Amino acid sequence: NDEEASAKAAAAIADSGAPTIFDKIIAKEIPSTIVYEDEKVLAFRDINPQAPVHVLVIPKLRDGLTSLGKAESRHGEILGNLLYAAKLVAEKEGILDGFRVVINNGPTACQSVYHLHLHVLGGREMKWPPG
Ligand code: 5GP
Repeated sequence: NDEEASAKAAAAIADSGAPTIFDKIIAKEIPSTIVYEDEKVLAFRDINPQAPVHVLVIPKLRDGLTSLGKAESRHGEILGNLLYAAKLVAEKEGILDGFRVVINNGPTACQSVYHLHLHVLGGREMKWPPG
């Protein structure tokens, strides 16, 4: 389908480590609605929300993390910081009682932006298994 095809096309280009739209969001060259920010992490609302709360949590320094599949031992601290920031976002958004954290890894999982990001989803009943 179209979604898979565009994800595969994006993967071919972007997994090379080329800059992504998220670099522009970090640099505030394109606007976003920021929910949480510290020196290492930025969290902002997804432009195409899949739930009443849909926030993306990203590392400001990608450091080779185009996707989770590129993680190495040295990334442990930033990976932990991202998960902790996801909790802070859930708290701020009032969804601590029920939220989901998703990482799409690679074209088969429909990853479209090759700068590691966590999706924090909530504000509605979540179904299992996910699609
Ligand atoms: P992925 O499919 O790679 O897991 O998730 C990428 C997410 O980034 C998508 O949910 C998409 O809606 C979101 N996104 C793509 N471009 C922009 C943008 O320019 N601004 C914001 N806020 N979100 C974006």
